[in-house]
Amino acid sequence: MAIERTLSIIKPDATARNITGRIITKLEDAGLRIIAQKRVRWRTSEAQKFYEVHKERPFYDDLVAFMTSGPIVLQVLEGEDAVARNREVMGATNPADAAPGTIRAEFAESIERNSVHGSDSPENAAKEIALCFSDDEIVG
Ligand code: ATP
Ligand code: MG
Repeated sequence: MAIERTLSIIKPDATARNITGRIITKLEDAGLRIIAQKRVRWRTSEAQKFYEVHKERPFYDDLVAFMTSGPIVLQVLEGEDAVARNREVMGATNPADAAPGTIRAEFAESIERNSVHGSDSPENAAKEIALCFSDDEIVG
């Protein structure tokens, strides 16, 4: 297994409920290290660009509205097999299908308001990290 980086986002449903710390604890307990982190509020154009791959999906406009509805926490996570490990601790997209103990099983409100994002491949992780952070913001 290789040391990888992945992009993690704590979504507005979670910042609204003041549970960012509980989510971060799960990520850290899974062996992932936060090497960059910032709390931001996305403009519509930023959310549209980030979720461009989903542009044709019926939920795209709602997703953009949700992701701009409040603050989010952007993080770069590093660790062994970080992309897969992060998605494992996040759980399935729909919290009804998420394994017990995962972030989405414990905290997600719905398939849309599902508390966290994680990159789905090392290639997409590199793209998403470059979109959200400058090199000098990744501090280790
Ligand atoms: P993420 O990309 O946020 O890590 P994911 O990879 O598990 O989640 P995707 O298929 O990439 O899921 O969908 C991106 C996001 O769009 C989901 O996390 C969720 O917030 C929203 N979404 C996905 N499917 C639906 C749906 N059927 N209805 C409403 N929202 C959805
Ligand atoms: Mg995805």
